[in-house]
Amino acid sequence: MAWPDLTHTERFAPSPTGPLHLGHAFSALTAYERAQKANGIFLLRIEDIDTSRCRPEWEALIFEDLAWLGITWQKPVLRQSTRLPAYRKALQTLWNMGLLYPCTCSRADIKSALNAPQEGAPLLGPDGMVYPGTCRHKPLPKEMPDTALRLKMPEAMQKTIGDIVIARRNMGTSYHLSVVVDDGFQNITHVTRGEDLAEATPIHKYLQNLLGLPIPEYFHHSLIRDEAGKRLAKRDDARSIQKYRQDGATPHDIRQMIGL
Ligand code: GLU
Repeated sequence: MAWPDLTHTERFAPSPTGPLHLGHAFSALTAYERAQKANGIFLLRIEDIDTSRCRPEWEALIFEDLAWLGITWQKPVLRQSTRLPAYRKALQTLWNMGLLYPCTCSRADIKSALNAPQEGAPLLGPDGMVYPGTCRHKPLPKEMPDTALRLKMPEAMQKTIGDIVIARRNMGTSYHLSVVVDDGFQNITHVTRGEDLAEATPIHKYLQNLLGLPIPEYFHHSLIRDEAGKRLAKRDDARSIQKYRQDGATPHDIRQMIGL
């Protein structure tokens, strides 16, 4: 076998919060095949920072489903739950740059601030309601606190995205921070993800710039939808890979269903 091309590393990064469905199969196979075509490296990363929702049995099923689909990946598999010190270090870097501030707002607080008569309907960004900046100008503690922290976003992103939560309360990180730190750590050069994450990509590029990490090439694929045109969700057990497997489908059948 030829040596892999180290300038092409892809990953599939599911969260073990439920069964994989056809949309995940499409995403995983697309990333895997792009890596194969380039003679690159394919990694699997388990995004399990939300320990209240992640389960070992879902993780085991991810391995099973992907192997059944014919996907292979480099071992060992990185689990984000083991990476908290790295996230903490990145947070500290951003804190030292003066870009973070603690936020004590609940969703209800944000909603009521946004619903103030002069503001109009709450604006939705990739992270939900665009934060009105309530805590942005409060005095900062000397040391970085162990609370929810927001990242000051640049002027151009204030209106559409707002200051994002970069560390969730009781979590010490967030999806955005973990993904960026780990893509950097794993030398990911190509990110293949659904277009539902296209709005998160500028946030990730901004973070990569701040943290001095290389910016991968991003490819956003279209989403697999049900007959009604709705995108598939993890709750939709009927379309889980496991269910199709149990009903006797072959990996080839799955590929046909998702147009591969
Ligand atoms: N973990 C994310 C998900 O399950 C995707 C990872 C990414 O491409 O950033 O949707």
